[in-house]
Amino acid sequence: MIGVDIEMENIAIISVGDELLFGEIDNTNASWIAERFVDNGCQVNEIVTVPDKIDVIASRLKRLQSEYKNIIITGGLGPTQDDITRDGVAQAFDKELVYHDKLADNINAFFEEIGKEVTENNYRQAFLPQGAEPIINKEGTAPGFYLVIEGTTVFVLPGVPVEMKKMIDNFVLDKVCKSRRQNGYNLTLNVAGIGEAALEDRIKEIINKSEGIVFRFLPHGGEISIKLSLKPGFDVDNFAKVVAEIKDELGYYIFAEGDKSLAEVVSDLLRENNFSLALAESCTGGLIAKRLTDIPGASNFFKGGVVVYSNESKLRLLNLSEETLERDGAVSRSAADQMADKVRELFNADFGVSVTGIAGPGGGTEEKPVGLVYSTIWSNTGKFQEKWNFSGARRKIRWYASQYILNKLRLAILEAIK
Ligand code: ATP
Ligand code: MG
Repeated sequence: MIGVDIEMENIAIISVGDELLFGEIDNTNASWIAERFVDNGCQVNEIVTVPDKIDVIASRLKRLQSEYKNIIITGGLGPTQDDITRDGVAQAFDKELVYHDKLADNINAFFEEIGKEVTENNYRQAFLPQGAEPIINKEGTAPGFYLVIEGTTVFVLPGVPVEMKKMIDNFVLDKVCKSRRQNGYNLTLNVAGIGEAALEDRIKEIINKSEGIVFRFLPHGGEISIKLSLKPGFDVDNFAKVVAEIKDELGYYIFAEGDKSLAEVVSDLLRENNFSLALAESCTGGLIAKRLTDIPGASNFFKGGVVVYSNESKLRLLNLSEETLERDGAVSRSAADQMADKVRELFNADFGVSVTGIAGPGGGTEEKPVGLVYSTIWSNTGKFQEKWNFSGARRKIRWYASQYILNKLRLAILEAIK
């Protein structure tokens, strides 16, 4: 992996909540904020999770205040007794909590709008530590706030993800990332079908001569996001040139720019080209169908699929040859071919796709180990046969199989429309 080379911005995050420490929810707020900052050219240096305890919030905050220029706190800003972040902040810096008429008015107006009675504890949210300024929350009643303590800005935001995200995007980013790049000088290229090392090797020379551009490689579940960002003061035209060179070098490995998923890209390609699809899934148990039908508009191209998990269903639903199954087994080249062919015919689809494999942990043999997966993509323009040996746990093998097949299907469609 190529090292992150981003200016230090001196940022720490404090996540407040017992539920985070009990393992009941994942700290997605912290990872979302961290990624948002990196995408805007600055970097989080420390993430700390604390329980719903005033003393602990106060002591951690005091320590971090002496070390960082910016601190983002999320969680515990609500109206109930267990929401004690504002008390922790006040205690850390020896501040009184001050009642703000204006915030109380906002709380009244919010409840009037949603047609509910305000209860007394809602007014807890009208109190802010002395010297703090509110950050307005259009999504709910909890205002965020910020205060500056000896050169450190402390931003205190609600835990509810939608509320927190709005405040980061509309307020915090501008204050913290002073060198924030304008839109257009960050770009994500998503690639599939190539490993991280091979990818780096392929574009190494372009990277090495690209002054002022930060590259990050983020592999996740069978695809890699290449994130490029231009440092302030460097040549914008050169950024565009480098992007063009990378696209040229990687060609079809790039499946999308920005946030589009592989399943979305495949859906778009099928829909735009009026192709229909049928699936015969064994070891993935419907995962590919699920991923495609998660996307609205799947009915435009997805004719249907069958989960033929047993030999019996392969014989009865898809009419596979008994002889093939006996001779080669259900996890075999010939079974995959027949499944794709038959499902295509059954659903009268342009593309018939099959997958059969051994997801483990049991069921592997020397000849056919866990992770062995066959797939066939069958269409008018040809037959694409694939065989992979995935490693890892069952969940990973099934995910990778779905991922690799979606990518091969993408390539098969591109081939068909050439
Ligand atoms: P509320 O007014 O709802 O009480 P709050 O600011 O007090 O808001 P919390 O009570 O800490 O926030 O959390 C509200 C909800 O937000 C939690 O139930 C949880 O689902 C979500 N949440 C809180 N912190 C995080 C986090 N770090 N990552 C992801 N989700 C979080
Ligand atoms: Mg709460």
